[in-house]
Amino acid sequence: MAAKNACLPERELFIASGCLQCAGNSESCCAESYVPLTIADVDAILELGYPLEEAAQAGEYYEEYLDDTEPWWRASMTEMEGRLFRVTTRKNERAQCVFLREGEGCVLGANRPRVCKIYPFWVDESGAIIVEPGEEECCNIAAGAVPVERGIRMIDESPESILEYYRDIQRDCQENGARHRELLARLLEKKEAGAV
Ligand code: SF4
Ligand code: SF4
Repeated sequence: MAAKNACLPERELFIASGCLQCAGNSESCCAESYVPLTIADVDAILELGYPLEEAAQAGEYYEEYLDDTEPWWRASMTEMEGRLFRVTTRKNERAQCVFLREGEGCVLGANRPRVCKIYPFWVDESGAIIVEPGEEECCNIAAGAVPVERGIRMIDESPESILEYYRDIQRDCQENGARHRELLARLLEKKEAGAV
């Protein structure tokens, strides 16, 4: 597991105001799931000094959960030996994101992944920012049914930044397939070797 990054001053730690009471609890988005990484996200994490194998894993995705997703997202899955993968943040032994610190939130600060920056929001087919369907069950902001604009302020973002991150994610899915395959091969090879 990656060590706490002492280089980041406290003000750089990510705890958006609306997430303050939530980030460290056992049911927050950070505690419950791994998140898909773009190549730029991977590079931003490596820049902080975390080795790839400590920061990321080959996250497996299952067909039944991909049925209702956008075609570009489904197409971005890397098929290896009949299974579907994307590079995701790594989970620790408690199945939480390795970058989550109790009482602090995320130690990646501004370098945290784009999916984390825009969660619980997404962009629909018409280009409108929406609460990602189904997230009411997982996220305090979504469950509170606050208006989208207010929710965006609660995560310290703006409509413009949300749209920009969304487009980055979409572009990564469409253009970076070869690089994802290369990273996944490295991660799966380490796993098979029992190194991680
Ligand atoms: S990278 Fe940070 S914001 Fe994203 S899930 Fe992990 S702890 Fe949460
Ligand atoms: S985005 Fe939602 S689930 Fe995640 S830490 Fe913030 S309030 Fe909690």
